[in-house]
Amino acid sequence: MHVLICGGGVIGASIAYFLSCRGVKATVIEGTGLACAASGKSGGFLALDWCDGSPLARLARRSFALHAELAEEIAEDWGYRRLDTYGGFAGFRRRRSAYDLGWLSDDVTVAHALGSPETTAQVHPGQFTAALMRAAEARGAELRLGRVTGITQYEGRATGVEVDGNVVEGDAMVIAMGPWSILAACWLPLPAVFGLKPQPRFRHRRKNPGGGCVPRISGTERCGADPRAVSPHRRHNVRLRHLQRGALAG
Ligand SMILES: Cc1cc2nc3c(=O)[nH]c(=O)nc-3n(C[C@H](O)[C@H](O)[C@H](O)COP(=O)(O)OP(=O)(O)OC[C@H]3O[C@@H](n4cnc5c(N)ncnc54)[C@H](O)[C@@H]3O)c2cc1C
Repeated sequence: MHVLICGGGVIGASIAYFLSCRGVKATVIEGTGLACAASGKSGGFLALDWCDGSPLARLARRSFALHAELAEEIAEDWGYRRLDTYGGFAGFRRRRSAYDLGWLSDDVTVAHALGSPETTAQVHPGQFTAALMRAAEARGAELRLGRVTGITQYEGRATGVEVDGNVVEGDAMVIAMGPWSILAACWLPLPAVFGLKPQPRFRHRRKNPGGGCVPRISGTERCGADPRAVSPHRRHNVRLRHLQRGALAG
């Protein structure tokens, strides 16, 4: 059995890792570079119970436990750490709060704790993806650079993928191209999957305070906002729609 995984983000790398643990040959085909997209830039934030009450609850809880197991299993430093997580607001004079954190600026008021080291954790997403891929390669998986442009088929079965004009044969294919997975709807009778496009900025601070700031262990910060909490930038959304239409039109 040889599985071809299109896309070298965290999803592609982790599928390669778990397949290789089960003795299945896996090849990840990545167009640009391992973890070059969201998987290398995200907050890398993990929460045990934030999906409770939704259909994703069991998956989120399993994923939280699995990251802790992987930190033991894969002997590399990918920045896994348990941590406290807080919610609050900034840009106003600090108000009285039950959480007086000496390391915060006077402009920030912590309103509540969102998680504790028992329920929240963080990884460095790029290092995590790279560590998974290296662990998979150590078990026989392969990372191949090249852009997937189609799926070859014979009598209704997928037989391989087209990579830069050549065909790579395989027994099963996984589409793990993140927001580019929509391209696969041109290759196979699959429903188009659209990505969410968060706007990483705060336009109306008073009306739309929703956002996040994720500190990395390296000392850098990642900030972003809930797409429902900010006004989307029309020009960007129009461009995204054009791209999606173009992809579907082939
Ligand atoms: C700002 C931001 C913050 C986030 N924070 C968090 C967080 O704190 N916690 C959390 O759990 N999630 C977070 N996420 C979400 C998380 O990063 C993504 O869900 C995850 O990285 C998606 O991984 P992926 O492998 O599906 O896709 P991607 O990382 O997008 O990988 C897809 C890969 O496919 C490749 N590709 C595309 N087209 C082709 C082609 N034709 N041929 C070959 N390769 C191709 C791309 O180059 C890319 O490397 C965040 C996302 C963003 C953007």
